[in-house]
Amino acid sequence: MTSLDSAGSAGSTAVPERGLLIDGGWQPARDGRTLPVVCPSDGRAFAAMARGGAPEIAAAVAAARRAFEDGPWGRLAAVERGRLLTRLGQAALDRFEELAALEARDTGKPMTQARADITAAARYCEFYGGAADKLHGDTLPFLNGYWATTLREPYGVTGHIIPWNYPAQMFARTLAPALAAGNATVLKPAEEACLTPLRLAELAQEVGFPPGAINVVTGLGEEAGAALTAHSDIDFLSFTGSPEVGTLVQTACAKNHIGCTLELGGKSPQVVFADADLDQALPVVVKAILQNGGQTCSAGSRVLIERSVYDEVVAALAPRFSALRIGPHDADLDCGPLISAAQRDRVAGFVDQARADAIPVLGAGTIVADAPAGGFYAAPTLFGPVPRTNRLACDEVFGPVLSALPFEDEADAVSLANATPYGLVAGVWTRDGGRQMRLARAIRSGQVFINGYGAGGGIELPFGGMKKSGHGREKGFEALLEFTTTKTVVFNHG
Ligand code: NAP
Ligand code: MG
Repeated sequence: MTSLDSAGSAGSTAVPERGLLIDGGWQPARDGRTLPVVCPSDGRAFAAMARGGAPEIAAAVAAARRAFEDGPWGRLAAVERGRLLTRLGQAALDRFEELAALEARDTGKPMTQARADITAAARYCEFYGGAADKLHGDTLPFLNGYWATTLREPYGVTGHIIPWNYPAQMFARTLAPALAAGNATVLKPAEEACLTPLRLAELAQEVGFPPGAINVVTGLGEEAGAALTAHSDIDFLSFTGSPEVGTLVQTACAKNHIGCTLELGGKSPQVVFADADLDQALPVVVKAILQNGGQTCSAGSRVLIERSVYDEVVAALAPRFSALRIGPHDADLDCGPLISAAQRDRVAGFVDQARADAIPVLGAGTIVADAPAGGFYAAPTLFGPVPRTNRLACDEVFGPVLSALPFEDEADAVSLANATPYGLVAGVWTRDGGRQMRLARAIRSGQVFINGYGAGGGIELPFGGMKKSGHGREKGFEALLEFTTTKTVVFNHG
């Protein structure tokens, strides 16, 4: 392993390079190739990760297969798997500040957000640790003389590809249910943010996960990621990321005749009716788009406002945006930088186009004067009214840009809420109980919050897309079911 240059980067402590975790041991990529680990707060490399590819993926999949078929992992009782996960959750809490600082430095997110993420990562481990021995099949009524039963069995080897926005949370969100169900896993973290997944994987080894239960191969999506999706010995795949790569992943899974879950983002609406409690709603509307700089699949990126209160609501939202301050992760302001120059440019493209389309800017935050020059900063911006057909009203920006749109009545609100290809999360703000229930049914999204919003939260709550936001469910007990397959066993006892 090479030593790393920590000098000059925002944050300071040296980060040891861990290489790839394969079969319980750490190793460099076969030809020694590495990729830089960049801090978005100043744009400088402060560490390096191994650049694994097809050979390392093959080794990791083989290790997982051995762990599942022959190794101690595949023979562990459910309660033991649960204990290991619970221990991993505790280990994360024991190193809370260390992990939060690592997460903040790798992703640029403010420390407060990074701390919330480590808490959530630990909660996933606790939740699925407790759930591991509560997963069971059924006894079924069948013909006389027969006894029919179902077993919920792990698939075997599961592949996991995660994005850069919540690396610690995503590590635990995808691996904990798969491990609780008894699968052996291979994880490909995102090239822009891999340090907390590597550290959590290291902690997993320390708390006693057997070799091969968790393998982590860092590298590029088109190398390590594509090799993982194409590998013929993967039994199931879990992917979170862009729709474009989701298509590639699902195509590769189809060729191998395996299933997958896809979580592909959204354009989630917050629907504000005239009778809403605005004091309750507005801080949540702002937080839902600002959290993690808007780089959240479930970001509330559209605020739909009943026309009679549109002016009042945007007038109250605008100063909240103008008061926002953006700076490096360790300044712990309202927003950090975006993950990369590419992501900043993508967001700037949306903002520039909206300005060119003459959509009014209602409020925009300020990047603090002493923010490091090389950082990937973008000012949160509130636009409105955004024309319904403008791309700002339809496309996922994945940045701190909120689009305000007026609606006429309840039917129009439903139609507008459902007017994008996505369907991940929605928020509805109204005091009318009947309307709450009607909208909860009528909005086509995987989650609907009434008088609240849950971007990123809710370990216990099934989460996933309708329409083009993807398919399959993560979080809650349903994620555990996703990582199992049903075997029916029939006894003829006469
Ligand atoms: P992405 O390319 O879809 O990346 C997601 C994961 O897939 C990463 O681990 C990536 O690896 C991997 N990957 C990339 N190409 C692959 C391939 N050919 N085969 C298998 N795996 C592959 O997303 P992105 O480029 O980071 O972000 C682009 C846009 O996607 C964002 O602007 C945002 O709109 C959306 N996004 C959505 C979510 C979400 O939570 N739904 C998360 C992130 C991004 P590398 O990191 O090495 O490329
Ligand atoms: Mg980074």
